[in-house]
Amino acid sequence: MSLIVEETSVTPPKIRQTGILIGDEFRPALSGKTFKTVNPATEEVICEVAEGDAADVDLAVHAARAAFETGPWSRMDARDRGRLLSKLADLAEQHQEELAALETLDNGKPINDSRAADLPLAIDCLRYYAGWADKIHGDTIPIRGDYFCYTRREPIGVCGQIIPWNFPLLMVAWKWGPALATGNTIVMKPAEQTPLSCLRLAELALEAGFPPGVINVVPGYGPTAGAALVKHSQVDKIAFTGEGTTAKIIMREAADTLKRLTFELGGKSPNIVFADADLDAAAAGAEFGLFFNQGQCCCAGSRLFVEESVHDKFVERIVQRAQQRVLGNPFDLKTNQGPQIDQAQLDKIMSYIDRGQAQGANCVTGGKRSGQRGFFVEPTVFTNVSDTMDIAREEIFGPVLSVLKFKSPAEVIKRANDTCYGLAAAVWTRDVKKAHQVAASVRAGTVWVNCYDVFDAAAPFGGFKMSGIGRELGAAGLANYTELKTVTMSMG
Ligand code: ADP
Repeated sequence: MSLIVEETSVTPPKIRQTGILIGDEFRPALSGKTFKTVNPATEEVICEVAEGDAADVDLAVHAARAAFETGPWSRMDARDRGRLLSKLADLAEQHQEELAALETLDNGKPINDSRAADLPLAIDCLRYYAGWADKIHGDTIPIRGDYFCYTRREPIGVCGQIIPWNFPLLMVAWKWGPALATGNTIVMKPAEQTPLSCLRLAELALEAGFPPGVINVVPGYGPTAGAALVKHSQVDKIAFTGEGTTAKIIMREAADTLKRLTFELGGKSPNIVFADADLDAAAAGAEFGLFFNQGQCCCAGSRLFVEESVHDKFVERIVQRAQQRVLGNPFDLKTNQGPQIDQAQLDKIMSYIDRGQAQGANCVTGGKRSGQRGFFVEPTVFTNVSDTMDIAREEIFGPVLSVLKFKSPAEVIKRANDTCYGLAAAVWTRDVKKAHQVAASVRAGTVWVNCYDVFDAAAPFGGFKMSGIGRELGAAGLANYTELKTVTMSMG
């Protein structure tokens, strides 16, 4: 008789690291303060984490500065930097199960998603940038006269990296990969809601052999630890992912020291379904494009434009799919929707649902909190949404889909572009010409055709308009971590 038991759920992992990483040492905050990180599925405290503030940030920046100026990192061959990144990718892969479980515990995302998306994408990103480390170089330039002119791509220096809670480990990989491949040093501030996977990966980075001070991690709050990093005179660049309102504060605070800034911000991405599309595929894509990660994606397809002639039958399919989603314990393998990250996000989402109803949209499914414990929200679909309603204009960051009706390509393009955002868009059609016309006309950093949320470490990602500055991933992601130096030598 076979004794193989089918896996139905995963056990939460042990917490190994809760300190601040400065140099090669994890330590408590200088103030002795800690903050709680909470399991969003149960509202129980997972553990206390060292709460860094300006004093800890200052130490971390000095460690990063020393590593950049004089440490072994500053003299290391590019190929060896690549080997270290590769080693880190290997260690992350070896600890994939533990890291996936840690992500699910701290963030609430279904373990299936942590396993199938967050971890593989993060590991792939580290490995992709490991391969770039020894392929970053300048040009020789034929200038007028008897001169030898060439360019060098040099690291920017100490990079402050501030990340959000929706893809904690993946955001670490997106930030560390290009920064380390190009020879920078890092002070990272993870989101206060989700510091644990970042701290564990930092531990693995030390194990991989990164020299002290190359990677420093200061968990803490935005207005204290984050702001201290932004203002610090010895930080050369801030890479930030989060809300536009925070980016504006960062831009102002960074003005005094004229830091290089790259931003990846919010969106209100249009997902456009033409009548000639494969409607089954489009419905699956519309569900995934919005409900994946509990709707907590900056590129969520939250404005679903459906051509009038198929609107009603498409809405039926979407509603059916929304109702079939399985909410529950994120460690359960049947679950495909976990809780929102915290009470504040839950309240914000519920207020948008209320406003949608008050402004005349039709809530065809969902619309309520699910259960009393854990920050769960029912998958929610609104129809009869007009372009001026708050639920069509503002980023909700939750499982709330707004369906809008359209008649012609020209009309839908105009409406799709009528937003301050420009992160992503998608179009579903069997007409190749129409697909490319829409792709060219929509003002967004990424356009998916007959697919949604297809990410790859090699494909640049970032925003037009108020969705961001600069690009992450791909070769484009490297440019934001180097300074270009021109060297001109007389040959006379
Ligand atoms: P979210 O809604 O995703 O939490 P935020 O922009 O508030 O978006 O947070 C993203 C990251 O920015 C978090 O790590 C947070 O602590 C940090 N942060 C928030 N406020 C500031 C600030 N004033 N200066 C620097 N970082 C901040």
